[in-house]
Parts: sequence; structure tokens; C-alpha cells
Amino acid sequence: MTVSARAAELDAADPLVGMRSRFVLDSDVVAYLDGNSLGRPLRVTAEALAAFTAHDWGTRLIRSWDEQWVDLPEALGDRLGALLLGAGPGQTLVGDSTSVLIYKLARAAVDAAEPARVEIVVSDDDFPTDRYLLEGIAAETGRTLRWIPTDPAGGVSPEQVAAAVGPRTALVVLSHVAYRSGFLADAAAITRLVHDAGALVCWDLCHSVGSVPVALDAWGADLAVGCTYKYLGGGPGSPAFAYVASRHQGVLRQPVQGWFGRADPFAMAAGYVPAPGLRQFLSGTPPVLATVPLRVGLDLYAEAGIEAVRAKSEALTAFAVEIADEVLAPLGVTLASPRDPARRGGHVTLRHPRAREVVEELWRRGVIPDFRAPDGVRIGLAPLSTSFTEVAAGLVEVGSALVGTSPPGTTA
Ligand SMILES: *Cc1c(COP(=O)(O)O)cnc(C)c1O
Repeated sequence: MTVSARAAELDAADPLVGMRSRFVLDSDVVAYLDGNSLGRPLRVTAEALAAFTAHDWGTRLIRSWDEQWVDLPEALGDRLGALLLGAGPGQTLVGDSTSVLIYKLARAAVDAAEPARVEIVVSDDDFPTDRYLLEGIAAETGRTLRWIPTDPAGGVSPEQVAAAVGPRTALVVLSHVAYRSGFLADAAAITRLVHDAGALVCWDLCHSVGSVPVALDAWGADLAVGCTYKYLGGGPGSPAFAYVASRHQGVLRQPVQGWFGRADPFAMAAGYVPAPGLRQFLSGTPPVLATVPLRVGLDLYAEAGIEAVRAKSEALTAFAVEIADEVLAPLGVTLASPRDPARRGGHVTLRHPRAREVVEELWRRGVIPDFRAPDGVRIGLAPLSTSFTEVAAGLVEVGSALVGTSPPGTTA
């Protein structure tokens, strides 16, 4: 059976097939393989933004702050926590960017650690912003970074974490799903190991949320952050979220002490006094307008259910790997992601020495994966908006772009 016939069969059997038509789809785009970097908008997003402008903002005006906006960071956080993070109420906030929240949470954790705990443990394959922020925190607080060397085609194992943590560890920061390989870390086991060493762990969930089930409370996680513009369709620059386990609230203290994180902010009183509970992690006015697309994105997840999303995601990445093996391996393409679907998030990375020029050519052809230095073509498969037919069309085009961009006088 041809690749496209197999794709048609998989689409016909897909229980979530109807979800794709809820998204804005453009006929110029043959295959969108970067929905894990910036999700497609939902069609209702434009209406939701218009309704917000007309009503919540236009009609209710500043009264909306009292009516709903002041509590929005926690209310939306609770909804996100319940739907997608396995987080009980009162532990998740929406606001700021992931980078800013990593700074707040990691700095709070390091500041609270005993002085003998001089190390922050991080993977050298962590997302760049995580590494840069932790370098800054280490410099500010006189700590040192301890790097876990990580295979960019794999990820961090519990054994590696066990070898890196000890009485000198203050904090461990790791990605649950690796941004390049898609490796899915054993978060429960790693969290236990970090706790056995007396340290805290902060999970970066940017590539997890909306593609794999997350169980922060069950893992016993301390802290977590993630963004909402990838799988959740929050739109470019949409606010991120932070999770702070209840037991750490009132103990950890974040460093950006603005008025929204103060007890009774509208008293406008002298001197900063931290708000009780999670609100201390706020700083300034929450990005209310920018939460509108996220709210409709969460509605769709409520309808689909994360277990069904994960099942489709596994099928999508398995299909991509199957095509890569069959069609692309003979052209010199190798897989830089786990082969076991259980150890893989929602994307896979393929390697080829000419990846950079091939991705440029693919973008011209309306096939949109991501280039990941030095030689990766990252295939992100947002489960709710991507069809199997789209995967097939996109990956077959990767093959023809490889052939089409071969230097003269060479095959493959
Ligand atoms: C996308 C991503 C970020 C992004 O951080 P921003 O502050 O939103 O730019 C951080 N960490 C990981 C793992 C990511 O994939």
C-alpha cells in the first residue's frame, strides 16, 4: 500500500479526525509540521477576541477587573492544571513568559536552599533559555551549574540524574519532553531521585503540555513551567504557566516583587508584604487580553481529552518514523529521536547533513518543519490539527526536496 493510501486509512480510523476542521487552514500550506513551535489558531479564536473586545473590555470596561480579571491568573491556572497538568487547585498560575517564570521559580528555589547546596543541575541539551537563565542565577547567587551530558537524539535518564545529585544539589531543572529529540523523561522516577537527595526539581513542560499526559501532583513535583503558544494554540507570545506545589507556597519567595504579588495590592500601602499562597508569584498586571486564544484552546482540549490526544500523537509520530524509515532512510536521513513511542513526546527529529537547505526549500514548497542546528529537521505533529495525510504529504516532500537540492553529479 502506498504511503498516501495508508495515511487515508489512518485518517478514516482517527477518532479525533473532526478536530482538524476547527482550525484555520490555509491551502498554501501543504503540511504544517511545526505545530509544536507555534500552534495553528482555532477558527473561533477570532470571534472570541472580537467578543472580548466588545463585551469584557468594551462594555464592562474597568469593572471587569473586579468581575473576573483579578482572579484570572489562578482561575485559568486551575483549569489548565485540572485538564492537562494533573495539578490540584491553587497551584498553577498563568502569566509572564516561560523564561520569566523559570527565573522566578528557580531563583526562589535556590534562595531557599541551604548554603551547602551550591549546585544547580541542568542538562546540556536543555532548551537554551533554561540554560541561560540558570547561568545567570548561578552567577547572582554564587552557585555553580552541574551539567548532565545528554545525547541530543535521546534524553536524560534517571541513572544520569542519580549520578549528578547529592548533598550539594539545590535544584534540578529538566525538560519533560526534550525540545530536539522529543525524548520523554521518566518524570516520576527523576522527581523521586531528586527528593532522595534533598533537592527540588523544576520541570519544563513546554513540549509536554497538550501532547502528553502530565501528572505533577502524582509525580510529587515541586515546580514546573510551560508555554501555551505551542500545542495549546495560545498564539504568538501568549502567557506561560507556573506550578508551585502547595507545600512550597509561603516558603519559597520569588524575586520580582511587584504589586500584584503583594498582600492586598489595591491598598497601595507602603512596603512589600508577600501575598499568601500562589499569588506571591505574580508581579504586575496579568496579560488578560493575551489569554483569550488560550481559553478557547483549552475548551477544545476539554472536548478531546488528553488521553485521546496522546493516543493520536503516538500514532502520528509512529507513522512519521515509518515513512522516514521507508522513504527517507535510503536518501541518507537518520532518526534522532527515540524509536520507542512510549519514550517519545509529540515530535520527532530527522537528521541529514543538508538539513538547513532542505528546510529552506521545503518552506518554499509550503511544507513547514523546523530546522534545528546543526543538522536536524524537526517534525512537530500537533495532534488536534494534523492529519495523517498531512504527515505523508510533508515527509514525501522532504524526500523530493532532498533529491531536488542534491549537488549536481550526485544521487540521493
Ligand atoms: C519554547 C520553549 C521555551 C520558551 O520560552 P519563552 O520564554 O516562551 O521564549 C522554554 N523552554 C522550552 C523547553 C521550550 O520548548
